[in-house]
Amino acid sequence: DERITVIGGGLAGCEAAWQAAERGVPVVLHEMKPERYSPAHQLPGLAELVCSNSLRGESLENAVGLLKEELRRCGSLFMAAADATRVPAGGALAVDRQLFSAYVTARIEGHPLIELRRGEVTELPATGLVVIASGPLTSELLAERLRALTGPDLYFYDAIAPIVAADSLDLTTVFRASRYGKGDGDDYLNCPLDEAGYERFVDELLAAEKVPAKEFEKVIHFEGCMPIEEMAARGRETLRFGPMKPVGLTDPRTGREPHAVVQLRAEDRAGTMFNLVGFQTKLTWPEQRRIFRLLPGLERAEFVRLGSMHRNTFINAPTLLAPTFQLQGERRIFFAGQITGVEGYVESAGSGFLAGLNAARLVRGEAPLVPPPATALGALVAHITRADARHFQPMNVNYGLFPPLPGKVKKKDRRQLLAARALAELEQWCEIGGAACRAPA
Ligand code: FAD
Repeated sequence: DERITVIGGGLAGCEAAWQAAERGVPVVLHEMKPERYSPAHQLPGLAELVCSNSLRGESLENAVGLLKEELRRCGSLFMAAADATRVPAGGALAVDRQLFSAYVTARIEGHPLIELRRGEVTELPATGLVVIASGPLTSELLAERLRALTGPDLYFYDAIAPIVAADSLDLTTVFRASRYGKGDGDDYLNCPLDEAGYERFVDELLAAEKVPAKEFEKVIHFEGCMPIEEMAARGRETLRFGPMKPVGLTDPRTGREPHAVVQLRAEDRAGTMFNLVGFQTKLTWPEQRRIFRLLPGLERAEFVRLGSMHRNTFINAPTLLAPTFQLQGERRIFFAGQITGVEGYVESAGSGFLAGLNAARLVRGEAPLVPPPATALGALVAHITRADARHFQPMNVNYGLFPPLPGKVKKKDRRQLLAARALAELEQWCEIGGAACRAPA
């Protein structure tokens, strides 16, 4: 059978189906709506934006702006739909969600090589190429089937702690040390708090504005992974005996153990980003920026991403996925979308692009491709497939993921140069590698 089966007609599944079909390969696309709806989906059409109607920033100063431009140049259906249905939104690219879904649905239904089948998939096809793009709210029966492929490396909730840029930390305050000098060497940076600072921090957490949990997300706190504001609400000392525990850490400036600490762990191999360990949170984004900047050493922190906690089905990509988006152990199976551990609408569509491209290449007897790591798509792929598997959490695209520029570069020019390098490498990849970029669909 030369047909590719795509499971899930969301952002990733539609892009994957389109890319494969545009390369001459027939596709069967399965979507469970309108027979079944996830707790967040409401529209009967394909490619539904379940929450915000914004695809985030447009400027190339912003890595998600660059990713959109890369996808546009690669002939992405997602970007064609976005450009056709946009609504005014300042520096962001926002769309009319009804028109967006209608546009994608019409293009998919109208494609001669795509057969759209409505209904829930509860078994994986035993043969042939399959792209699993069933999203963060994959139906239970399918999730059970996926377990057979993934074992324990399939998760149902994320617990994302904020990540800060290393060069925005105040290194005169923050000190490097592991507890009792043990562990993986001096791998952690520590922000020391005195008693007054700790008490103020707890007060701020208690008073802060939180994002209300959706009904289907309420079970989250029983998963043994509590948001820090919830810990603070359990007792004033709870954090000091939990993620802010100071024992075994000596502040070299005082020679003593601080009253409490926040530990920062490197998020990437180059050490350009640090994760606030154990700081998963449901505080609103403005509150996170305000309150975490009260921490010593983080006064001028630049947040590469902020914390969040969601119901989210995703796999441990560093363990399971090849950078071609094939399952390591069974190469006929691809994953695409939020389920791969990418986070966000544009990121999901981007992974769908790559899975569709590569599934079609396999059918055509061509080798699968990996985008260059200096592109936004490639940097994201490299991150999710090579991140530390022990602490893997979903990731959105950001400039912290990019390989550093050679030589010394002024901070204000950095993003512009990263974007220019990315687009040049993308063009080469398309020409030489055969990724076949085209004008938007
Ligand atoms: P989806 O777009 O969800 O597509 C998966 C599709 O698979 C769905 O249509 C579903 O009906 C179908 N499906 C599931 N199981 C089966 C089955 N067994 N058989 C057949 N079909 C099946 N990202 C942002 O950038 N901005 C936001 O504002 C945002 N808000 C979000 C809010 C919520 C509540 C959630 C859960 C996620 C949000 N995300 C947001 C994250 C993410 O970008 C979106 O979920 C995005 O839609 C993911 O794309 P996807 O293709 O992986 O999954």
